[in-house]
Amino acid sequence: MQRIDIGAVHILRLDQSGGPAPGNKRFKLRYHLAAAKARGRKRILSFGGAWSNHLHALAAVGAELGLETIGIVRGGEHSTPMLEDARAWGMELVPVSREEYRRRADPNYIEALAARFGPCLVVPEGGGGAEGVRGCLDIAGMINQLERHWSRVVVAVGTGTTLAGLAAGLACADELLGVAALKGAPGLDAAVQQALDTAGLAARLPWRIDHDYHCGGFARSNAALRLFMQEFEQAQRVPLEPVYTGKALFAVHSLLASGQWSATEPVLVVHTGGLQGRRGYDWLDRGHLD
Ligand SMILES: *Cc1c(COP(=O)(O)O)cnc(C)c1O
Repeated sequence: MQRIDIGAVHILRLDQSGGPAPGNKRFKLRYHLAAAKARGRKRILSFGGAWSNHLHALAAVGAELGLETIGIVRGGEHSTPMLEDARAWGMELVPVSREEYRRRADPNYIEALAARFGPCLVVPEGGGGAEGVRGCLDIAGMINQLERHWSRVVVAVGTGTTLAGLAAGLACADELLGVAALKGAPGLDAAVQQALDTAGLAARLPWRIDHDYHCGGFARSNAALRLFMQEFEQAQRVPLEPVYTGKALFAVHSLLASGQWSATEPVLVVHTGGLQGRRGYDWLDRGHLD
C-alpha cells in the first residue's frame, strides 16, 4: 500500500466534538439558534437534501434545546438514514418537488412557509447568512488559540459560509484555501465575498478557492478519490467522507505530491465532520475504522 505523505499536515478534528451534531454545522447554527431564542421562536424551519448534514445537525440541536424543527426536503426521497435520524430527533419532514425547492431563497415562498408553519425562524439552506458566518468565526478563534503559525489553512467548500468565517477570523496563517466540493461553481468566490459583506466582515488574510478537486461533482467520487480515501484512512486512522473532507485532504495530498507545496510548510486542514453521511457509500464500509 502506497504511503500517504501528508508532510507537515495537521488536522483540526471538528468531527470529534459536537455530539450528535459534529463538524462545522453546529457552529453555523449557533447564532441562528441564539436569534430564535432572542425572538422567542420555538420552531425552526430550514432546507436540505435527503443527505443533508445541515438538516441532520438542526434536528439534533433542536432536540437538545427543546425546539421544534421542520425540514423542507428536496425531491421525493424521504427515507435515508440521515432523514431517519432527523425524524427520530423529532424533526417534521416536508418533502417537496425539486421545482418547489428551487424557491427556497424567494422571500414570497419563505413568507408562505412562515404562514403555513406558524411563527417560526427560517434558516437558509446550509445554515448560511450572517449568523452562519459569525458562527464560523468561532472556528477561526479556536485555530487562533492553537498559537501556531500555518502557511496554509485548508477547508472544504459547499456554500462558502465556513470559508468566509475563517477568512474573517484567522490571524495565524499566510493563506486560506477552500476546496470546492461542487463542479463548475464559478459563483462561489462571489458567494464568499457576499457572505462576508452580509455579515459586515472583511477578510483578514488572502483566500482562494481551488476548483480542481470536485472529483466528478457534488457528492460524486472518482476512482482516484476513493483510492486516496481508503489509503489515507488506513494509514492515518482518520475517517473521512467523500463529499467534503475526502476532497479537501485529497487536494492537500495532491498539491504536496506534485511538489506545488513544500512538505516543510505547516498546513492545517479543518475536518468539518459529515461522517454520518458515510452510510451512503458502500465502498467505505471496510470496518477498519471502528
Ligand atoms: C456543509 C459542509 C461543508 C461546507 O460548508 P459550507 O459552509 O457550506 O461551505 C464542509 N464539510 C462538511 C462535512 C459539511 O457538512
